[in-house]
Amino acid sequence: MKKEDIFEYDKNYIAGTYLRSKLFAKSGKGALCRDEEGKEYVDFSSGIGVNSLGFCDSRWVEAVCTQASKLQHISNLYYTEPQAKLAKELCHKTFAEKVFFSNSGAEANEAMIKAARKYSFDKYGTGRNKIIALINSFHGRTVTTLSATGQEVFHKFFDPFTPGFEFVEAGDIEGLKEAVKSGDVCGIMLEFIQGEGGVVELSEDFAAAVSELCEKNDILLLDDEVQTGVGRTGRFLCCEHYGIEPDLASLAKGLGGGLPIGALLLGKKCRDTFTPGSHGSTFGGNPVSCAGALEVINRTDDSFMAEVEKKGDYIRTELMKLPKVKKVTGKGLMIGISLIDLSSKEAAEKCLEKGVIVLTAKEKLRLLPPLNISFEEINKGLSGLKEVLS
Ligand SMILES: *Cc1c(COP(=O)(O)O)cnc(C)c1O
Repeated sequence: MKKEDIFEYDKNYIAGTYLRSKLFAKSGKGALCRDEEGKEYVDFSSGIGVNSLGFCDSRWVEAVCTQASKLQHISNLYYTEPQAKLAKELCHKTFAEKVFFSNSGAEANEAMIKAARKYSFDKYGTGRNKIIALINSFHGRTVTTLSATGQEVFHKFFDPFTPGFEFVEAGDIEGLKEAVKSGDVCGIMLEFIQGEGGVVELSEDFAAAVSELCEKNDILLLDDEVQTGVGRTGRFLCCEHYGIEPDLASLAKGLGGGLPIGALLLGKKCRDTFTPGSHGSTFGGNPVSCAGALEVINRTDDSFMAEVEKKGDYIRTELMKLPKVKKVTGKGLMIGISLIDLSSKEAAEKCLEKGVIVLTAKEKLRLLPPLNISFEEINKGLSGLKEVLS
């Protein structure tokens, strides 16, 4: 199709929720993709951290196609092998003892909030249901995950929001202690690196204080790893960098390698919190999505993680040489770039013109390249960035 026609169809028939950039993507392989006219782009975005293995990785395609031709879906009232295997792998790789599958990050977070409230209800009865979240967080677009999101711009239009959420500033240990004094808090919810909030890392001290406070008061630590999880930061879960074990963690973006899937990891305290009928999802844990996720999980072993870290370090070092780069944040292949004399929006548009797909996060550029990007592809992308940031 001609891009003018796609543009017209989109304008006339798709709800206007996205301010799209003019890239009409047609096909891709690895970290490279082509538009409708054959122009090539280096992808430093992976969707938004979704295509962990890049575009159309051949083993991933095979796993997905094989499963699609065998059994594409059956209700969660029945058993399937891909779902069972994926759950076992996730439990082996993490603190989790059980897994609940959803389709997206927001849904995984909904499940996380429900699990925290039910754990507390089962043990302490009604009324102990408050969740403390952080200012500048992002937890999703459903009414409840918006309610848990600590950015005022998201708290418009959709009143009434779900009650039971309070916010403290990341780093404000005293404020946090004050907030839990009421005795009605069941969970503290956070991202170890705030993604949409601008690739902002929690300090080690604050993270340790949260963990300690949670442990002392039987408050659950709710770890949103929707963006940071599945190897993005050079560890399978970002909490590993901090030496902290959460009670619950949500995964989504990178888990399926490009297919919709989310997962809630339930630790020891919550392994039996969900009982028949207490939660569910029609599509959650779809066999095709699970087959894709299994390929991602099987590939993200320790040596793969070490490569992610090495590539992240290399990109950071190269970026710091560029005149318009003020500061680089994040871990592994989750990279935030503060700019000098250039807005992030403007820089991202210019990068696209130069054939490099990058993301923004507030006033920063954000890079989330495929985890298996090659050094050749990295250098190709960096040379585009050099033109914009010099
Ligand atoms: C993207 C994101 C979400 C929402 O995920 P969806 O799949 O878009 O619902 C939640 N939390 C974090 C940290 C995210 O980055």
